[in-house]
Amino acid sequence: MSKPADTDDPGTAGSRPDEPGFETLCTHFGEDRAASFGAAAPPIVQTSTFVYPTAEAFGQRGDPDTPFWDYTRVGNPTTALLEAKLARLERGEWALAFASGMGAITAALQGCLASGDHVVCVASCYAPTRWYLDEVLTRFGVGVTYVDSVDAEGFLAALQPRTRLVYLESPTSGVFHVLDVPALTAALAPRGVLTVLDNSWASPCFQNPLELGCDLVLHSATKYIGGHSDVVAGIVVGRDREIERRVRRQAELAGACLDPFAAWLLVRGLRTLALRMAQHQTSGLAVARMLAGHPGVLAVHHPGLDSHAGHELARRQLRGYAGLFSFALVDQSPEAARRFLNRLRLFSIGVSWGGHESLAIEMPRPAGSDGARLIRLHCGLETTSDLVADVREALL
Ligand SMILES: *Cc1c(COP(=O)(O)O)cnc(C)c1O
Repeated sequence: MSKPADTDDPGTAGSRPDEPGFETLCTHFGEDRAASFGAAAPPIVQTSTFVYPTAEAFGQRGDPDTPFWDYTRVGNPTTALLEAKLARLERGEWALAFASGMGAITAALQGCLASGDHVVCVASCYAPTRWYLDEVLTRFGVGVTYVDSVDAEGFLAALQPRTRLVYLESPTSGVFHVLDVPALTAALAPRGVLTVLDNSWASPCFQNPLELGCDLVLHSATKYIGGHSDVVAGIVVGRDREIERRVRRQAELAGACLDPFAAWLLVRGLRTLALRMAQHQTSGLAVARMLAGHPGVLAVHHPGLDSHAGHELARRQLRGYAGLFSFALVDQSPEAARRFLNRLRLFSIGVSWGGHESLAIEMPRPAGSDGARLIRLHCGLETTSDLVADVREALL
């Protein structure tokens, strides 16, 4: 197995008639089966180090054009297969895999930022991302402004002369606001401000942020890409080679590299990503629609519902809807939320999402928030009618 050339045509994943479709790319792209005994499943190259055939070959160490693998923290063939597939599926030029979503997020930010820089971040982002910005990056002289807005103007108003990067999620965590990503990237690019988007919710199956003008795409691959609740991992995808160099260097030195077996599990997860996303979408919409028509429910935050404020934008930017959304009960007492959660039989109580199993939690409310108490549901791969019945019965 040789190192993949990084000149692989990124192309587009199934958007043009002459392009292989998303599922075909998940099955075949980047595979070199002849190089591994014709095995249909790729080998797991479970090694820390690689040996060189000669001292002269070792002398080429560090040369980007060397055909030799060196050390798994810096690169590994199993991980490289995953990275090649994700670069292609996200329509990027390169991808880097990490030991967790947070490993990907922190490497991307540290690779792009320096002391004195300023970041504008969507207020309802994944909470640990916010903790990292507030508790770590601010200690290194990076300023942060949070924006609680869905339109481009709100973000543009927060820009400062030293703003280097705008950090987005769309839909956002918790409340599932849809941001006008193309309007924002069109305004930011001419100012030299990088746009980074956490695409864990949509997965590359339903949204490609690079095509919407973003500079970097982040994933918690723990969620839909893995899909089986058995691996923790993260991904960064981009196009610009200078940014790649900096994020790759950060990755090597900070060391949150993905284990080859975990990379193999993610390649395996990708085989069924499109099938799984279709099922998550069907069940998520069915449960959300039932909730929206239920007298005990105050509000449902699902971008696929006509009633959602961002529905029209979602229809333009997304190719489908994931199985994760939130809702509020009419009875806003903590007892009502707990009674609902305890009455669920198929939905288990637990964090994370994106796996085969349905999960529910009460969302932590930000300090000082006077918003409604939200319950978050992840609709897994169980039979749709069973999930709808489970939620309906828990509301009684
Ligand atoms: C879970 C999650 C992360 C963090 O990923 P880990 O793999 O848990 O480190 C980042 N962003 C979003 C939106 C998430 O849901």
